[in-house]
Amino acid sequence: MGTYRDDLTPVSRYQNLGARSVRYIRSLDAVPELTPEEREALHGVAERFAFRTNDYYLGLIDWDDPDDPIRRLVIPHPDELRDWGALDASNEASNTRLPGLQHKYADTALLLAIDACGGYCRYCFRKRLFMHENAEVSRDIEPGLEYIRSHPEISNVLVTGGDPLLLSTARLERLLGELADIPHVRMIRFGTKMLAFNPYRVLGDERLQQAVERFSGPGQRIYFMLHFDHPREITHLAREAVRLLRSLGAVCVNQCPIVAGVNDDPAVLAELFQLCTNVGCPQYYVFQGRPTAGNEPYEVPIVRGWTVFSQARRGLSGLSRRARFVMSHATGKIEIVGVDEERIYLRYHRAKDPAHEDRVIVCRRDDDAYWLDQLEPVELG
Ligand code: SF4
Repeated sequence: MGTYRDDLTPVSRYQNLGARSVRYIRSLDAVPELTPEEREALHGVAERFAFRTNDYYLGLIDWDDPDDPIRRLVIPHPDELRDWGALDASNEASNTRLPGLQHKYADTALLLAIDACGGYCRYCFRKRLFMHENAEVSRDIEPGLEYIRSHPEISNVLVTGGDPLLLSTARLERLLGELADIPHVRMIRFGTKMLAFNPYRVLGDERLQQAVERFSGPGQRIYFMLHFDHPREITHLAREAVRLLRSLGAVCVNQCPIVAGVNDDPAVLAELFQLCTNVGCPQYYVFQGRPTAGNEPYEVPIVRGWTVFSQARRGLSGLSRRARFVMSHATGKIEIVGVDEERIYLRYHRAKDPAHEDRVIVCRRDDDAYWLDQLEPVELG
């Protein structure tokens, strides 16, 4: 393990700031803090929905608190076995053009390059990718790259999965080089939770740092869509990793869903927004959780999500309240813009069908609804 400085002074480039191999854990039997009874009760849940974490992330848990939010994020819960939701709640399969490539909005392609993450969030909307063989992810990125080359309307590529920072640095370098050679690709985004699960991935890999700097230049920029759900995930190591990525020319933003028992409290969400602004990854989207199978214990209804979101923003400055509260629906990204006594107001932020772009939808208020399909539209006279 390398030495790591506890201060927050600016880092130099390409330094090994604490390379340490985290130990990945795939069995509840390897979590000694759980009692034998708890493990016994949760084995069936972990068999249905994959369990994975690591020793760094487990170290953030306060085991004396049975409702600890970090514990809730990665340790299975018996209620996941309740019959609820669908495995692919927003029908991503319909956007899959070939294994490992989704194309929903004309200008954006998703490369699903890996089917593993630094840990498995219990509320994950892509948990189907970790459960069984599937054709939605491909480690062979060449067909996906060829698709992007032949579609000049694609100006930005989101590399996701799974978590692309689990790919080897050599593969990431190759991927970045190939994307950089496609003239119409102007922006490369990485959707990653590795700075929460394992910030050493960035801090300890000088070659990865060099690659980020090499491909973050004028005309083409790397964005890291980070994923902190709770302020406690933003450790001094995570902060340093954000700062390092920014110093190398990358842009960092944060996005997360509202998760029951984790951040569905206005004070917690406000602290997260503020911290993200301070650290240099301002909040970009807050998601209404998709009604995904196994996720009932983690979801909150739309009206409650809106209430938490809007109350969280109230005490913050403009810079910390730029996030949008959105639903990633099969038909597009729909922003929840307001709720009053009788109605819920929504607007297409991005529409799969361009004819619906910016369309406003007004629905009857339903405090029990979790998703657009459960809402009743109001005919406006
Ligand atoms: S990091 Fe993202 S893809 Fe991975 S388990 Fe968490 S929510 Fe799912």
